[in-house]
Amino acid sequence: MTTREECAALDAVDPLAEFREEFTLPDGVIYLDGNSLGALPVRTPERVRRVIEEEWGRELIRSWNDAGWFEQPYRLGRRIAPLVGASPAEMVVCDTTSVNLFKVLSAALRLRPGRGTVLGDAEAFPTDLYIAEGVTGLAEGARSVLIRPEELDRHLDGDVAAVVLSHVDYRTGELLDMPGITARVQAAGALMIWDVCHSVGALPVGLGAAGADFAIGCTYKYLNGGPGSPAFLYVAERHLAAGPLQPLSGWFGHARPFAFEPGYDPKPGIGRFLTSSPSLLGQAALGASLDVWERADLAAVRAKSLALTDLFVSLTEGLDGVEVVTPREHARRGSQVALRHAAGYPVVQALIERGVIGDFRAPDLMRFGFTPLYLSYTEVWDAARQLAEVLESGEWRAERFSRRGEVT
Ligand SMILES: *Cc1c(COP(=O)(O)O)cnc(C)c1O
Repeated sequence: MTTREECAALDAVDPLAEFREEFTLPDGVIYLDGNSLGALPVRTPERVRRVIEEEWGRELIRSWNDAGWFEQPYRLGRRIAPLVGASPAEMVVCDTTSVNLFKVLSAALRLRPGRGTVLGDAEAFPTDLYIAEGVTGLAEGARSVLIRPEELDRHLDGDVAAVVLSHVDYRTGELLDMPGITARVQAAGALMIWDVCHSVGALPVGLGAAGADFAIGCTYKYLNGGPGSPAFLYVAERHLAAGPLQPLSGWFGHARPFAFEPGYDPKPGIGRFLTSSPSLLGQAALGASLDVWERADLAAVRAKSLALTDLFVSLTEGLDGVEVVTPREHARRGSQVALRHAAGYPVVQALIERGVIGDFRAPDLMRFGFTPLYLSYTEVWDAARQLAEVLESGEWRAERFSRRGEVT
C-alpha cells in the first residue's frame, strides 16, 4: 500500500507539477471532476475581459477583421489538431458536440448512398444516440441500431454506412482500440466516426494514424475551455477533397458569405462544416486554455494519468461495498475511475461536502476524473482516504445527501 509520504515524493519529481499554478482552484477542494467541467485557467478571465472590453467594447465591428474573429474557428481548430493527431486543415471549432455529430453523421450518410444503418453503442453518452436517431429519421431507409462495441463485427454488414463510438466511455472510463476498430469498420465499407469528448486532453489521440473518417469532441472537459465552450469537429482530408456536404448549410460555410448570394455554394475544405457566427466569448476562453495545452507534453500527461488512476484504484479497491468498474489494463483505460457502490449518489454527495468533488452516473457509478495538469499524487491519496472515511463512518446515510439536483 502506497503511503502519503510516497505520494509527496512523487509530487516532488512530477514533471507536470509546474502546471498547477496555471489553474485557479478553491482552497480545500480536491477536484476530481475535470472530466465533466475542467478547472479555470488563471489566464482565462483576463483574456475574456480583453475580448469583451477591448475587441468588442472599443473596436466594435472592426474586430471581425482586425482581431481575427472571422478566422477564429480555424485557428482554434489548428491549435487542437496536435492534441488529436489531426492535420490542421482537418479541424474546426464550432457549435456543440451534438450539433457537430449531426453534421458529420449526415455527411457520412451522404458518402455511403445505398447504405442506411448507423451503428452506435447502446451504453454511449445518450446525446450521441439521440442525434443518430434524429439524423437517420430524416433519411429515407436509414435506421440507427444500438449494439455493444464487443459485438461490432457481427453487425458490420453491407448496409452499415457509419459507426459512431466513444473513444473513452463516459461512465466506465474504458478506452477502445481506435486503430483496430477503425480498420474493421472501414474493411466492411463503412465510415468511422469517433467521439473523443473523454479522450482529448486525457491521452494522446491519433485520429490521423488510425485513419478515422470523422471525429467530434468537446472542449469544456479535459481541455478546460469553460462551461459550454465550443466543440470541434474533424474530417479526414480525403473526404474534404471529395466534398461531402452537411445539411446545416449556413452562411459561415458558404464560399462567399459576404456576397449574400441566394444559393448555397459550400466553402472548399473544412470550412463547409461551419454553420453560424462563432460564439467568440466562449472561443476566447478556449484560446486561453489552449495556451496552457500548447506547453504540455501529452506523453507526460498520459504517464501521469495512468499513475494517478492506478494509485486511486489501488487505494479504493478493497473498500466495503466498492467495485472497480474501470478496466485495469492501461491500454483499455482513459483518465477516470468509476467505482460501483449501491449508495453511490449519497456517498458522492458526502464526499463533495468534505471538499472532494467527483460525480455520479445512474444507477450506481461514482465517477472520478484525473487531470494530470492540476492534480497531485497527494491529493489523490487524500481523496481515497476521505472516501474510506465516508464509507466507514456511514455519514453518507444522512438524509441531506440523498436529495438530488438537476445535474448529478
Ligand atoms: C460531454 C459529451 C457530450 C456533450 O455534448 P454537448 O452537445 O456539447 O452538450 C457529447 N457526447 C459525449 C460522449 C460527451 O462525453
